[in-house]
Amino acid sequence: MENRLRSTYAGFGTEIALKSKLTSYLCGDEEHPPDHFVQFYEDDEFLLDLVSNFISAGFARGDTCIIVSTKAHREGLDKRWRAANLDLAAFSERGEYIWLDTDETLAQFMVDGLPNQERFIEVVGGRIALASRRRRRVRVFGEMVTLLWMRGNRTAAIRLEEFWNTLYDDLRSFSLMCAYPMRIFAGETYGAEFLQICQRHSHVFPDENYTNLTSQEERLRIIAQLQQKASSLEVEIAERRAVEERLRISENRYRRLFEESRDGILMVDPDTYIILDANPSIRELLGRTREQLLGRKLWQIKLFQDHAIDRDALRELQEKHYICYESLSFLSGDGRHRDVELLLTLYPVDARHILQCNVRDITERRQLEARKDEFIGLASHELKTPVTSLKGFTSLLKRRLTSQGNEKELYFLVRMEAQITRLTRLINDLLDLSRVQTGQLVYQEESFEMDTLLQEVIEDVQGTTQTHHLSLEGRTQAVIVGDRDRIGQVLINLLNNAIKYSPEADSIWVRVSTNAQDVLVSVQDFGIGIAREHQQKIFERFYQVADLETKTYPGLGMGLYISYQIIKRHGGQLWAESEKGEGTTFHFTLPLVRKQESKASK
Ligand code: ADP
Repeated sequence: MENRLRSTYAGFGTEIALKSKLTSYLCGDEEHPPDHFVQFYEDDEFLLDLVSNFISAGFARGDTCIIVSTKAHREGLDKRWRAANLDLAAFSERGEYIWLDTDETLAQFMVDGLPNQERFIEVVGGRIALASRRRRRVRVFGEMVTLLWMRGNRTAAIRLEEFWNTLYDDLRSFSLMCAYPMRIFAGETYGAEFLQICQRHSHVFPDENYTNLTSQEERLRIIAQLQQKASSLEVEIAERRAVEERLRISENRYRRLFEESRDGILMVDPDTYIILDANPSIRELLGRTREQLLGRKLWQIKLFQDHAIDRDALRELQEKHYICYESLSFLSGDGRHRDVELLLTLYPVDARHILQCNVRDITERRQLEARKDEFIGLASHELKTPVTSLKGFTSLLKRRLTSQGNEKELYFLVRMEAQITRLTRLINDLLDLSRVQTGQLVYQEESFEMDTLLQEVIEDVQGTTQTHHLSLEGRTQAVIVGDRDRIGQVLINLLNNAIKYSPEADSIWVRVSTNAQDVLVSVQDFGIGIAREHQQKIFERFYQVADLETKTYPGLGMGLYISYQIIKRHGGQLWAESEKGEGTTFHFTLPLVRKQESKASK
C-alpha cells in the first residue's frame, strides 16, 4: 500500500511543499508535527483511497485513528481495508480505531444551527485528548464541516473549522484531514467563503485533476490552463454583470413607459387571466385603484364583461398572438361614455407568456371623425345642386349645338360633359360614403332579373371605353330582391376599376352562375393585380394600394368600400382573388330568391 501511495505522490518534487506534507502524512515515513489540512476532490473513490491510505499509515505508525464520516463513506473505507486484510476489529478493540457518525456527533454540540465551542471541546476535544493520552499521536479524518457546508449552513462550517484550529492549538497532538468535494463551490458567490475555508487550514491540497499529475511539466501546464480559465471567467463575469446592468436599465425604461403611457395597460397571466399589473392610465379610465384590479380576473372588468370578451373569445389569441378590437364603447370610471380601442398582445417573457392589454381612449378621435363625416355629407349635398343644374344646361346646349351642326363647339361641350359626369360620380360617392357612415343609405326593394341588369350595365360601360372589350359569360335567369340601382352601382364600380387597373390589357370578363342559394357574379381583368396583403384592406374606407413600383391611378378609395357595404346589406359577400401582376377577379354573391321559369318550359 505504501508503494501505491508513494507512486501516487511520487510526482511531488522535493521543491514542492505537497510532497513533504501529504506524502509523509500518508506514508508515515517521517516525523511530522500534527497539522490541519484540507483535500479537495471531484470523485468519492479518489477521496476514499486517500483517507484509507492516511488512516492505514496511521495504524502502521501506531497512531490512534478517529474517523467522523457518513455511513456511506465508512462502508467505502471498510471495503478497502477488508481488501487489504487489515484487522479493523483488533484496532478497534485496542482503542486504536474509533469511528463516529457525522450527524450523531454534530447533534452533540450544535445549538440553534451553530456549533457551540464548549460542547465541541467537550465532545470532540475530550475524545482526542483521551486518545492522545494513551497514544503519542492521533489522526483524524472529519466530515462534519463538509456536511454543514453541503446543507447550506456555511457560517457553521467556517466556525467549526475555527474551533478545530483552536483545539489544535490547545492539544497539538493530532493531524486533522478535512475534505470537500470541489463541485460544492461552483458559483461565483462562494469565492470569498472558499478563500476562508482555505485560510482556516495550514495546508491545502487541490483535487485529483491536479494531485494525480505525475510530472512537474504537466502540473505547470495545468496551472497555466487554470490561470487562463480563471481570467476568462473573470472577463465573463464582468461581461455578465454589464449585461445585467444594461437589462436593469432597459427594465427601468420599460417601467417608465408603462407608468407614463397614455394608453391604459393591464398585464395579465394568460393561463389564469389574472391581472398582474395595471398602469395609472387604466386605473383612471376604469375608476379603480391598483389594489382593486390586481389579482382579479380579466372578465371581472366591466369593459370585458360588456363586450363578452372572455376565455372563448380569446381562444384565437393562442394562435395569432394579437387581437385588435377597433371600437368598443363603455361607461368609464367617471361615468362618461367612452370609445376605446383594445389591443391584446401575447408575448414571451423568459420561459412563459404574458398577455398585455392596451386600452386606448379614442373618444375624441371618433367625435372628430363623426364631425368630418357630417361635413363631407353636407359639402357633397351642397355641391350636388350646382352640378346638377350645370349638367342640365350642358345637355340643353348640346342639343342646340347638335341641331345647329356646330361640330367645333360640340367637341368641347362633349368633353365638358364627360368631366361633369366624373364630378357627379365623385359627389355621389362622397354622399354615399357619408350616408353609409351615418346609416342613412336608403335601399329600394324590388325584384329584378340579374341577367338583364348585367347586360344593361355591360353595354353602358362598354360605351365609355374604346380600349377594352367587355364579355359576358353565362345566363342564370336568377331573380334577386334588392336595390337594382345599387347593385348596378357595384357592377359599374367593379367594371370601371377593371378598366382602370388593366391599362395594358384589352379584355374583361363578367361571369354569372348560381347554386342552390346564391347567384355568383365575377369580374375578371388581366391588369396589375393586388398583392395578398392588400386584398382585405381594399374594402376599407379610402384605402388605396400604394405601390412605389407601379404608377398612381386617379381615385379616392371609396368605391370598393361603398360596394362592400351595399353587398353586405343585401346579405351577400364581396371579395377579391388576385396575384400581383396577374390580374384580379372580384366576386360577389347575392341570395337567390328564385329562378325564372325558362321560356322553353312555358
Ligand atoms: P379607387 O377610387 O382608388 O379606385 P376603390 O375603392 O374602387 O378606389 O379601390 C380601392 C383600391 O383597390 C384601388 O385604389 C386600387 O389600389 C385597388 N383596386 C381596386 N380594383 C382593382 C383592380 N381591378 N385591380 C387592381 N387593383 C384594384
